Amino acid sequence: QKFIYNFQEGKTEMKALLGGKGANLAEMNKIGLPVPPGFTITTEACIRYLEMGEKLDENLQKSIFEYLEELEKENNKKFGDLKDPLLLSVRSGAVTSMPGMMDTILNLGLNDKSVKGLAKKASNPRFAYDSYRRLIQMFANVVLDIPGYEFDNLLEKKKEKNDYNNDTELNVDDLKEIIEEYKSLIKEREQIEFPQKPGEQLLMAVKAVFSSWNNPRARSYRNINDIPHDLGTAVTVQTMVFGNIGENSGTGVAFTRNPATGENKVFGEFLLNAQGEDVVAGIRTPKDINELEKFLPEVYTELMEITRILEKHYEDMQDIEFTIQEGNLYLLQTRTGKRTADAAVKIAVDMKDEGLIDKKTAILRVDPEDINQLLHPNFKEDELKKADLLAIGLAASPGAATGKIYFRSEDAVQAVTDGEDVILVRKETSPEDIEGMAKTNGVLTSRGGMTSHAAVVARGMGKCCVAGVGDIKVDEAAKKFYIDDRVFKEGDYISLNGSLGEVYAGIVETTDAHLSDNFKKLMQWSDQYRKLKIYTNADNQKDAVIALNFGAEGIGLCRTEHMFFDSSRINSVREMIVANTSKKRKKALDKLFPYQKDDFKELFKVMEAKDLTIRLLDPPLHEFLPQEESEIKSLADELSISIQELKTITEELAEVNPMLGHRGCRLGISYPEIYKMQVKAIISAALEVKAEKGYDVKADIMIPLIGTEKELAILREQTLELAEELIAKSDAELNYSIGTMIEIPRAALLADEIAKHADFFSFGTNDLTQMTYGFSRDDSGRFINHYLEQEIFKKDPFTVLDQSGVGKLLKMGVELGRKTKEDLKIGICGEHGGEPASIDFCHKIALDYVSCSPYRVPIARLAAAQSAI
Ligand code: ADP
Ligand code: MG
Ligand code: MG
Repeated sequence: QKFIYNFQEGKTEMKALLGGKGANLAEMNKIGLPVPPGFTITTEACIRYLEMGEKLDENLQKSIFEYLEELEKENNKKFGDLKDPLLLSVRSGAVTSMPGMMDTILNLGLNDKSVKGLAKKASNPRFAYDSYRRLIQMFANVVLDIPGYEFDNLLEKKKEKNDYNNDTELNVDDLKEIIEEYKSLIKEREQIEFPQKPGEQLLMAVKAVFSSWNNPRARSYRNINDIPHDLGTAVTVQTMVFGNIGENSGTGVAFTRNPATGENKVFGEFLLNAQGEDVVAGIRTPKDINELEKFLPEVYTELMEITRILEKHYEDMQDIEFTIQEGNLYLLQTRTGKRTADAAVKIAVDMKDEGLIDKKTAILRVDPEDINQLLHPNFKEDELKKADLLAIGLAASPGAATGKIYFRSEDAVQAVTDGEDVILVRKETSPEDIEGMAKTNGVLTSRGGMTSHAAVVARGMGKCCVAGVGDIKVDEAAKKFYIDDRVFKEGDYISLNGSLGEVYAGIVETTDAHLSDNFKKLMQWSDQYRKLKIYTNADNQKDAVIALNFGAEGIGLCRTEHMFFDSSRINSVREMIVANTSKKRKKALDKLFPYQKDDFKELFKVMEAKDLTIRLLDPPLHEFLPQEESEIKSLADELSISIQELKTITEELAEVNPMLGHRGCRLGISYPEIYKMQVKAIISAALEVKAEKGYDVKADIMIPLIGTEKELAILREQTLELAEELIAKSDAELNYSIGTMIEIPRAALLADEIAKHADFFSFGTNDLTQMTYGFSRDDSGRFINHYLEQEIFKKDPFTVLDQSGVGKLLKMGVELGRKTKEDLKIGICGEHGGEPASIDFCHKIALDYVSCSPYRVPIARLAAAQSAI
């Protein structure tokens, strides 16, 4: 089996085997871009290594040295040579890029002797010793697991002692001393010498990279990002090029377009006389890529040209790493650039308009879940004017966030779990902070640039982030930060504007999002492809208007009971519930009727001729009864009964299993007058709005919790009779229909019978999920995390539809329903109606519509289009 490929043998399509980095280095080499030669050891070799108990087998070792020999020929240099040594980088590369997770070693092959040769050969001793001290530090960190900061501390001490500001001021003697100190540190910690044999360095480095696949940081990153644990990482071994030779050398990172705004302009940073991760580590403040033109104009022009070639080749925005060695440009990495949702939309639309990609590709480029960020609030303008601006840093990742500050990731996560709004404040973040960053509202750092760990990770997560706020002094140990003479401690509120880099004291209020023209364009394109209609779940005019603005085509679920809780009418509702005769109940219902009719009229007015699906009363009645002593007294007074009497009645209404009790259509069967009042309110409201406004209103009456054909037959008959009577009286015509929810498994199983009495079906997947699994949504919180941890569930079935189980019932419901009525309209109105994977399933089983909460309407439009493409 072949476990190694050199750059001539690989290509992008071999990502699974060569990792993203290795595959793309090979691809760049193939299209003629300047890439230092190298080879990649496959992910399969990694998996084998891990299976064999972290051992490199003989054959693989042999093969590594064979490829090394080829590399020596290509470079015309020998690895381990004392006069002119070939130096290597050993780089990890997973299939999906995992920023900062796995580690890299540079300058491999140097030792006490060859460093002298390199110094002489390059006639630049400083460069040689700087490279050697970097090798020792990285090797110790990656291979021997000695924390990097211990080495940083030694370096900092040396700088302090000599009163240097920059690493570049360290001279050869300083570096020699540092090297000795580094070596002593290794000896003290690990009781071993820094290995002097280059071959040994290489094998140890390869093993360490393979092993790092299973380090806790990498595992936690994969857990958060849903990356499987069994893919393994590839290792790329590459010829070193040096950015630390002098002022005509350097290193940098660039995006081919702006990853925060999407602007079509190369965006990046570089440092002269620097190596490796100096730029992202925030050691020195990097320069804007545009300034490279001043320092090295030819390199700048070449770099700009290369970004265009790369975009054309990959047909997407790229994130590249490059190094300049004495005026020569080399590319060290390219990958698809992470971007904010704003940028994703703009780049997709721009690239389509530039003719780089087609419309379908543009639609597929934006992750529906990411759109969420665009639909969310910003700070209110007038609130901002009054706000107490503390400092301005880098606008690292857009959005607005308010919360209490926490300085340690663990504390922040705990506070979020306790229900707090939290902002994580760090000097700079590291991979250990990932969970804290994922869960909090925003991130603030006092160090680091636009490509620092905090900035890159926050943008990827769509998390508001302000980075590199130099004016703020963070004391993580004391859990405080200082600015001028003010102190902010754990638990104090601040607000962040990630779009402008502003930091405010206290809470700043937010407003609704403004949707860009690009966004609207993408939505229009989506509408041209999708087959599913997008409805919304809205119980009142306000929500309906939000949803309509987001492009909702109808209301798929209006829950009438939410209207009952209004303080002006709750007592009439309660009166109806405690009524022990049909006559008393009717009296209470008569009081409720005008309220209900007005509610519906408001909705019909905003929906005009669009579908308005109204569900008749569903929850168990006792949910409406008063709990507080004062409320009980007030109701008793109103009903002119004693408190004791009222309490007896409410006790009688209590149920052991209310969610499986007297609710839904069962209420309609036992108290027909309740549903009659609601039907009368719906039909009258529709007729009145039609008469007043001339809209061709559409009323869809939905009967919940049907389990048998007979239930629906009875309730349909009763509804039909009343509706026809009202319509006849009004002398007008009305477009209305009577349908049912499919939310009890039996209804799905017998959907052919149910369909005889239904004009439409709507899958209520919240109830259907809890009834299919046999556990309640309200109680599943107690065990669901254990189920997720033990991978009994991959996803919470209340969030992502269980396609194999609950989905089977949906499929059956559709097939049986349409067997009876070929063109039966069918939709979904559970939470799943706004979740992309579930929407995809709904598309596949040929539903007519999905209905979701107003803010998810655009997500659903895009997801439905992607399913149809
Ligand atoms: P990561 O996956 O963490 O980005 P990389 O393998 O890309 O790790 O290495 C980090 C940095 O090390 C690169 O951005 C580059 O600056 C430097 N580097 C890696 N390989 C080489 C090389 N062959 N020559 C010079 N610098 C290198
Ligand atoms: Mg790294
Ligand atoms: Mg890299």
